[in-house]
Amino acid sequence: MRYRSRIVAAGLFVVAGGLLAGAGFFADALTLDLAHAAAVGFLGLVILALGLLMLRRGLAERPRKERPADAPPQPLPYYTRNCPFCGRRLGLKEEKCPQCRRKMPAGLTCSAGEPDADAARASFAAAREAALARGSASYVWRAVQDEATCERCANNDGHVFQWEREPIGGHAGARARCRCRPEPVFPDKGGPRGSAASSPTPRA
Ligand SMILES: [Zn+2]
Ligand SMILES: [Zn+2]
Repeated sequence: MRYRSRIVAAGLFVVAGGLLAGAGFFADALTLDLAHAAAVGFLGLVILALGLLMLRRGLAERPRKERPADAPPQPLPYYTRNCPFCGRRLGLKEEKCPQCRRKMPAGLTCSAGEPDADAARASFAAAREAALARGSASYVWRAVQDEATCERCANNDGHVFQWEREPIGGHAGARARCRCRPEPVFPDKGGPRGSAASSPTPRA
């Protein structure tokens, strides 16, 4: 492992440099004369600096791991939601729509779709149960992209989420008015491509 050995080498430089610098600094105890102590101390500092530089470069070149299948989803953050009554985009903290003057119900994002929160939750739960039973661990967020789509759903569109790990703002289609749907990902499909939901496939 090239990366590991570089880090180890850098660490050795840091330690050796530190020891030499220390030896120069505590020259009295080692009965060195001043010129030698200064030289040893300087050399130690140079090696220390070199080691730190190597360490920094080594860490910067750390190999990036492929994201495992169960890594937490990382779509873009979102800062707005839609007024469910008039469709105006509001900041997440706004409690009253300045356009239609209605109070924001909790847990809403998009401004179209099923207004019943229980129905939305139930339909997501059913989709999840069916997918889990068929060996799926995750789903691709599929959003309807139009002017009624909220920022969160638009950002989540196309990203992979875990059935058992609720993303910020809730699962696809599990909130009132959210028209998104979860498209199950099956392990042998190797990712979000393909119509995973349509054809039953043998498990690996
Ligand atoms: Zn409104
Ligand atoms: Zn949605």
